[in-house]
Amino acid sequence: MGKLDGRVVIVTGAARGQGEQEARLFVAEGAKVVVADVLDDRGEALAKEIGALYVHLDVSQEADWHAAVAAARETYGRVDGLVNNAGILRFNSLTDTPLDEFMQVVRVNQVGCFLGVKTVAAEMADGGTIVNTASYTAVTGMAAVGAYAATKHAILGLTRVAALELASRRIRVNAMCPGAIDTAMSNPARLDPAADAEETSRALDGLYRKLVPLGRIGKPEEVARLALFLTSEDSSYITGQPFVIDGGWLAGVSVI
Ligand code: NAD
Repeated sequence: MGKLDGRVVIVTGAARGQGEQEARLFVAEGAKVVVADVLDDRGEALAKEIGALYVHLDVSQEADWHAAVAAARETYGRVDGLVNNAGILRFNSLTDTPLDEFMQVVRVNQVGCFLGVKTVAAEMADGGTIVNTASYTAVTGMAAVGAYAATKHAILGLTRVAALELASRRIRVNAMCPGAIDTAMSNPARLDPAADAEETSRALDGLYRKLVPLGRIGKPEEVARLALFLTSEDSSYITGQPFVIDGGWLAGVSVI
């Protein structure tokens, strides 16, 4: 018995990183998964490997959402779950951030999450689940990621309101707030075939040893296990909540 037997779940940004690990784990737990991304080659290859459906979905485009839900229904007959995972990060001080750059981050992270809730919840079976991927920066500040942090704070607001509005249909909506996770977003060497990503990963462990009580960067597989918990019956009485998964980073600082 898998924890998601028979359930149909859409995972956005699933071609790589945390979304990829969520897709792999959900399939292993018996779900029928829709791998959604803008990286078509990578997403299609993953879907083929794990026995999932790939759809091209730019989360900032409402028409893409309607097409993705239609494809899920056509292939699997229903939709029971959504993981809003797709996201982008841009580094800049607020005073140097061009409006276009700010709006690009808003379009993907915040509007994408809103469109996912709006489009998929409307078509979702009663008793479904939505997991929104926020961030450590949804619950505290971090210099040089102002646009990103603003959108991640907004995702927590969307999560709480969606939980209230959808509770009458027993649709549960929660958010994950990962700290530093070893994907291309925090470890860009993972995108460079010539680079040794494991070496940069060890270097990042060195950096995070100073910041994170558990002394290392997190793994995408660890976030996937939290997404599984929030998508499965194991979290049946939980809705509207942010879940921090950060190795203790947010707990505070040590002065000795
Ligand atoms: P990643 O960059 O490896 O993966 C992001 C995925 O989103 C990619 O597959 C990318 O193609 C996809 N994507 C980007 N724009 C898209 C769009 N418009 N439509 C559809 N897909 C799109 O990074 P990741 O760490 O796996 O990121 C997953 C989520 O976790 C993001 O929301 C990110 O903000 C969040 N997060 C990451 C970290 C971290 O340290 N890695 C920390 C906190 C939160």
